[in-house]
Amino acid sequence: MKKINFSAGPSILPQEVMQATAEACKDFNGIGLSLMEMSHRSKDWQAVMDDIDSLFKEVLGVPQGYSVLFLGGGASMQFCMVPYNFLEKKAAYLNTGVWAKKALKEAKLFGEVVEVASSADANYTFIPKDYSVPADADYFHITTNNTIYGTEIRKDIDSPVPLIADMSSDIFSRPVDVSKYAMIYGGAQKNLAMAGVTFVVVKDELLGKVSRTIPTMLDYRTHIDKGSMFNTPPVVPIFSAYKTLQWIKKSGGVEEMERRAKARAELLYGEIDSNKFFRGTAVEEDRSLMNICFVMKDEYKELEKDFFDFATSRGMVGIKGHRSVGGFRASTYNAMPLEGVQALVDTMKEFERTH
Ligand SMILES: *Cc1c(COP(=O)(O)O)cnc(C)c1O
Repeated sequence: MKKINFSAGPSILPQEVMQATAEACKDFNGIGLSLMEMSHRSKDWQAVMDDIDSLFKEVLGVPQGYSVLFLGGGASMQFCMVPYNFLEKKAAYLNTGVWAKKALKEAKLFGEVVEVASSADANYTFIPKDYSVPADADYFHITTNNTIYGTEIRKDIDSPVPLIADMSSDIFSRPVDVSKYAMIYGGAQKNLAMAGVTFVVVKDELLGKVSRTIPTMLDYRTHIDKGSMFNTPPVVPIFSAYKTLQWIKKSGGVEEMERRAKARAELLYGEIDSNKFFRGTAVEEDRSLMNICFVMKDEYKELEKDFFDFATSRGMVGIKGHRSVGGFRASTYNAMPLEGVQALVDTMKEFERTH
């Protein structure tokens, strides 16, 4: 049976991206070498690096004065690289979930951290909106999509200080006004590529302002100077990101990705809200279009495992909610076709009919 992959990450990718990446691993561009064994200094690979740089900038709309980097270490490495490079005295963080909190914790190693607001007391079911960012903070860090809790900041907020965003799980799902950010970063394995590469979009003029010494590998300027090839880059993940970007562009860009995301989310939230067994966990106005979290209503709690088995038998994969939320989470990233969500909705309807 063809499985429908709702995993939160690593997650679904367009079929053609996986095929093209697998092909390149066998024989890259017909040169008689696998992508896995060829030199990253070869002109064939350099062409990919040049191309992905311009394609990434084109698809996301990255203005002049910003660099795009492809690094190792995951988004988690950025939790320390951000304060290493930007925190001189004080930084502000919005605590909207486990990932946001991990970023905040790391920043504390480098200076004073102000948690401007937190929804931890409500198990992160909403995005706090009533807060003020200290004007003397070096930067303000947000997590635009809270992968575990299914909440999302779907607009480019105003910040009195440089704004830095972890967009691991909603990058390329909507048009972003990059000029409002000092930096955007994320692990690629949610909406861009296979695991193993991390993207960074950083405003060049903001670098080099901290007084500390930064280890070479952790200094963004090292990687800007060397076009993300100071050391050996993760070529296979980068190649899959390259193919995904081509797919996004060909499909109609981030505007089309957003239109599709809205259609998927509307369909699934609609069913969650009307089905007698389920309820959504995030407050309505902050619902994520990428990770849709729902649970069995209290009076039907004991049916949770039944529904999980029911959905699994119909080919649904990765719908178990994170242990800190429970219930179910359907991740509906860019590559999820509407038919996949329709199949889940049909499964929920059938469960309602038969139980
Ligand atoms: C998955 C995720 C991370 C962690 O990414 P790694 O690449 O595994 O370090 C960080 N932030 C968010 C929002 C995520 O969804």
